Amino acid sequence: MRVCAIVGINWGDEGKGRMVDLLTKNYDVVVRYQGGGNAGHTVVNEKGKFALHLLPSGIFRDGVVNILGNGVALDPENLWKEIETVTSEGVSITPENLKISDRASLLLPWHRDLDELEEKRLADKQYGSTKQGIAPFYSDKYQKKTILAGELNHPEEMREHLKEIMEWKNLILTNVYGAEPYTMEKMEQWIADYCEKIKPFICDATLFLKNAHDQGENILLEAQLGALRDLDFGIYPYTTSSNTTASYAPIGSGLPSLQLTDVVGVVKAYSTCVGEGPFVCEMFGEEADKLREEGAEYGAKTGRPRRVGPIDLVATRYGVEVQAATRLALTKLDVLSYMDKIPVCSSYKIGEKEVDRFPFPTELDHAEPVVTWMDGWKCDISGVRRWEDLPKEAQEYVTYIEQAVGCPIVYVSVGPERDSIIIREGEKA
Ligand code: GDP
Repeated sequence: MRVCAIVGINWGDEGKGRMVDLLTKNYDVVVRYQGGGNAGHTVVNEKGKFALHLLPSGIFRDGVVNILGNGVALDPENLWKEIETVTSEGVSITPENLKISDRASLLLPWHRDLDELEEKRLADKQYGSTKQGIAPFYSDKYQKKTILAGELNHPEEMREHLKEIMEWKNLILTNVYGAEPYTMEKMEQWIADYCEKIKPFICDATLFLKNAHDQGENILLEAQLGALRDLDFGIYPYTTSSNTTASYAPIGSGLPSLQLTDVVGVVKAYSTCVGEGPFVCEMFGEEADKLREEGAEYGAKTGRPRRVGPIDLVATRYGVEVQAATRLALTKLDVLSYMDKIPVCSSYKIGEKEVDRFPFPTELDHAEPVVTWMDGWKCDISGVRRWEDLPKEAQEYVTYIEQAVGCPIVYVSVGPERDSIIIREGEKA
């Protein structure tokens, strides 16, 4: 029996969706355990190209049961729209292959408004939120001011509860932000349009997971974003509002007693970052534009151009440590094929000191990247499927990273398609 978490080692967008899609063939259950629809996994397989936001990436595999755990920000509107989009492409989504935890809290319509209103108030000091309501949602979850998905099965009590929360939230919307208050009529529409649609999927997912575990089924736990966005261990306050780390997976998935047997950390062959905040290894100008174009680095949800830079070994080593990764997948190696010399951020300079330990967030503002250069391979590697067929320079790049971060790179991804992968000797997918 395997209990494996797939997590991001960097700022997110490392290609986790692509790795989950690949690995799901060995798993019976795939669980999303944190975050909401604010980021996107892009998955390319025989069924097409999909941008997933909330749905677990195992949804494309027949026989795999997908769970949205209690740790996610469950946005009925976005989830329903996503289900409609994915099913319109011929993918079957039923209560048999998608289960929503009755203990997942609902992201309510005003969470999105509040996200937008607060970013507007912050003006040039904004955090770069995707305005999907994630921060207001998690604040309210911890204030116990939202609704559990399971409450939808108790309509009368749910409406009473919702009305109480709405009246409290209207005070904030109107008095703090001067916005329009919500009414129960408006909420009825939201319930009818979205909540009723997702209701058939809601169940005691903890019980399902417990039974699956007791029967020795293989469980894959899927995270959103990466270590540097973790609420506690990331670059606060430029983090997300939940824990992206593997150690949160047992709680957010619904089975706190789960013990991980494996943590696959996904690392991109170069760095990207969406939104505001320090990004020490950032490249600018033409060099950055070229990398952004080659890697198609535009947000899956927002279309925003991502900030780009060379791989950051300081941040990656920290990400590996925080995630307690047991193996790594290095993605998008093919994107670097155009470079004569490949830059690597090997340490930081803060004042006179060279540091290789990821510093406290405030110190990042004063850190400069120390860049070393490696030889490029200058040929198309997207068709390579065996380690020994990779050019020597590409092998050296991979082994250099692996040694610098102290964790084996077992998967090397050379394209977005399911089979564009090199699995290093001795490993099974
Ligand atoms: P996630 O949120 O971590 O799943 O990452 P995203 O989906 O936002 O970003 C990864 C993007 O890179 C997607 O568009 C993938 O299709 C693409 N991708 C993943 N692995 C590779 C790879 O090895 N090479 C190339 N060229 N693209 C890849």
